[in-house]
Amino acid sequence: MLDGEVPAVSDVATVAGWVRDASAVTVLTGAGISTDSGIPDFRGPQGVWTVNPGAQRISDIRVYVADPQVRRQAWRNRRQHPAWSAQPNAAHRALVALERSGRLRALVTQNIDELHQRAGNDPAVVLELHGTLFWVSCLSCSDRTPMADALARVDAGEEDPHCLRCGGLLKSATVSFGQPLDQAVLAAAVTAVAECDLLLAVGSSLTVQPAAGLVTVAADVGARVVIVNAEPTPYDHLAAALIREPIGTALPALVADLPERAR
Ligand code: NAD
Repeated sequence: MLDGEVPAVSDVATVAGWVRDASAVTVLTGAGISTDSGIPDFRGPQGVWTVNPGAQRISDIRVYVADPQVRRQAWRNRRQHPAWSAQPNAAHRALVALERSGRLRALVTQNIDELHQRAGNDPAVVLELHGTLFWVSCLSCSDRTPMADALARVDAGEEDPHCLRCGGLLKSATVSFGQPLDQAVLAAAVTAVAECDLLLAVGSSLTVQPAAGLVTVAADVGARVVIVNAEPTPYDHLAAALIREPIGTALPALVADLPERAR
């Protein structure tokens, strides 16, 4: 397909047939799969950065390290994060059904909300490219501790808690701009995409690298690419199908009545 050309397929029934016939589906999810669970995305119409473009600054590791005021704001944000009370939605559950059908090769997520695991996907198939909000990491000694412990210290009055082991700066175990991804997780994601025959990219603006580049990996190995997202993405020209309808209805329809595949 030529750059800019829109693929002919956009109906869910046709793509559901592709899912049924696939033997290895790798899924790449972004913030858009969790908006129905009450967690805003970053770049959608109601996104955190669309509404408040200045908020992006807080996600830069250099700013975080340099500015104690930014760290205090980051801890207040973590305290109030909607992930603590969010529940998995119908789209998360659809990916559990996909796994149970025997077709899911891997679930690569850019999300930090652990909703895939909470929905019931095997943690072993979930590859968290951007880490998790549920753990804290020391920027000096890499000690990992539960977020709940750090937030208890924030509640007790510490505005910018430091590492209890070495005194270093603490941050959620998520990947900020300027921080490297976990190379083992990234390598596993690249392999899972290279070994799939269908890549389902769901709820991502596909603007953050290297996650977005996984779509190119799929296209290069000849896998079918299906993008489920309300808005256009820079990778639409590589897709065999574009589904613009809400993720919360599209994903359950894609996996409805999936027969189990022998493993
Ligand atoms: P993004 O905000 O850049 O893009 C989300 C896309 O999803 C948008 O294009 C939007 O139009 C679409 N969308 C939202 N709700 C939808 C719906 N119900 N149906 C169809 N489309 C819908 O998100 P991204 O590409 O994942 O990049 C954001 C980065 O920020 C990620 O790297 C992630 O680590 C982080 N983040 C995570 C969470 C989370 O864990 N839930 C939330 C916000 C941001």
